[in-house]
Amino acid sequence: MTETHSAAAHGDSGPEVARLVASRVLDVPDFPKPGVMFKDLMPLFADGKVFREVIDEIVAYHGRDTFDVVVGIEARGFVVAAAIAYATGVGVVPVRKAGKLPRPAHSVSYELEYGEATLEVHEDAFTAGHRVLVVDDVLATGGTAEATLDLVERAGGTVSGFTVLLELGFLGGRERLAPRPVHALLTV
Ligand code: AMP
Repeated sequence: MTETHSAAAHGDSGPEVARLVASRVLDVPDFPKPGVMFKDLMPLFADGKVFREVIDEIVAYHGRDTFDVVVGIEARGFVVAAAIAYATGVGVVPVRKAGKLPRPAHSVSYELEYGEATLEVHEDAFTAGHRVLVVDDVLATGGTAEATLDLVERAGGTVSGFTVLLELGFLGGRERLAPRPVHALLTV
């Protein structure tokens, strides 16, 4: 495990916030499989002061009146989404992996490096025109985010923004999601 280098950190909320995130990420080589450098944000979640600063920064970036509900992507996105929801007084909607939701749901499948994944959201999760802020911990290839944004729209929501704590810029997720804007607190 090594700490992400933070000296020249950059992101869409400026170098100070980027450095803050970088100071609370651990790089875990070969997890969950050989060749993958896992970006572990648990130290950020576990640090109450930093976690609050990060949540406040996300809310300030979008503006607290720009969304009606927050979507978190299973599972680490739930942590971020719930905090934003509590801080702003809106509700939270989970986007879940296949087979976890108890009632009728929309689903979207997408390609992974090996195989396929499916994400789901309840059919009645949004009121038509609801403005939805979508959050996750890490943006890698963008497949998960693309499926989630499609799912929100299919369920009648309007995506008002998309934020991740950390973006792996070299994997091209931002380009994949274009023209939908990406807000990343730290880009590596
Ligand atoms: P992707 O669909 O490739 O953008 O992958 C994004 C999803 O997988 C997010 O929900 C992340 O939590 C997780 N993920 C992908 N790559 C990593 C990584 N290197 N470190 C931590 N999480 C990752």
